[in-house]
Amino acid sequence: MNCQRQISRRRFLVSGLVGATCMATHAEQKAPNSPDEPVIDIHQHTNYLFRSNKKLVDHQRTMGVSTTLLLPAGRPVNRESTHQGKSNGLAAKTGGNESVMLLAKQYPDDFRFGANEVTDLPGAPKELEKYLKAGAVVIGEQKFNVDCDSPHIWKIAEVAREYNVPVLMHFQHNAYNKGIERFHRTLEKFPTVKFIGHAQTWWGNIDKAHKQELMYPKTKVTPGGITDKLLTDHPNMYGDLSAGSGLNSMLRDEEHAREFLDRHRNKLLYGSDCPDAAGRTAGCKGSVILSTVRRLSKDNTIERKILHDNARKLFRL
Ligand SMILES: [Zn+2]
Ligand SMILES: [Zn+2]
Repeated sequence: MNCQRQISRRRFLVSGLVGATCMATHAEQKAPNSPDEPVIDIHQHTNYLFRSNKKLVDHQRTMGVSTTLLLPAGRPVNRESTHQGKSNGLAAKTGGNESVMLLAKQYPDDFRFGANEVTDLPGAPKELEKYLKAGAVVIGEQKFNVDCDSPHIWKIAEVAREYNVPVLMHFQHNAYNKGIERFHRTLEKFPTVKFIGHAQTWWGNIDKAHKQELMYPKTKVTPGGITDKLLTDHPNMYGDLSAGSGLNSMLRDEEHAREFLDRHRNKLLYGSDCPDAAGRTAGCKGSVILSTVRRLSKDNTIERKILHDNARKLFRL
């Protein structure tokens, strides 16, 4: 978005005035981390590719994020659902339940935390309950080699229903939460549980012409793909714009993205999910996603919903 448009709609929000010149309004343009424009990041990890807690805290503050949800991994186990251990630590060495809870308790103004466990472990519901009772606000990131409409996922959904928290799911063809074309079954079985879609196969399927083997398609989007339909047809389906996949879904076809952000304005959530230490410039996906949402949102209401309001409501923050 050009300077004139971005500033004038911010000014409109602040003072109700329109039509001011770019020069006159520059002074009023708020910094991204301005306290009256809070941002909620729904997707970060501790120990992400061995990044230290100190670097994570600094990264989030540099990005201008006011509240961050820390998503834990499940316990390390060698079984099919973790690809015999290769996907332990969410396949990125990330910290588990204790790790995210401890950091959130250490920085209560910066962080909230989730609860997680390997989907098909017999003790999974009990482990989730332990951390939900301790204040976890979401279950996830569910990133395990199971079908997304399997009894394993349904067991997790039962816990989510009981504790009234959303479930965040990483969809990746032939690898995690398989069978996205059948995910409507889970949504229909648990109408009171909110599910948040994330990752390559979730975002690839905004396109009706999507080829399931592709992870980061670059072609123009034909609206009406599986993801578009799930968001339209199911009130309990949400989308997490984090990571290279969320960013690619917008950059591959910006014209489509403007309309997509508009029509799913109440369902989309900002997340970063980047492992860098910088927290700014092109090397930090989270900050690029942030500026892309700001640029492609048609108005300030849509931007605020995606960067803050939807998450506050969904996680009852
Ligand atoms: Zn993640
Ligand atoms: Zn980053």
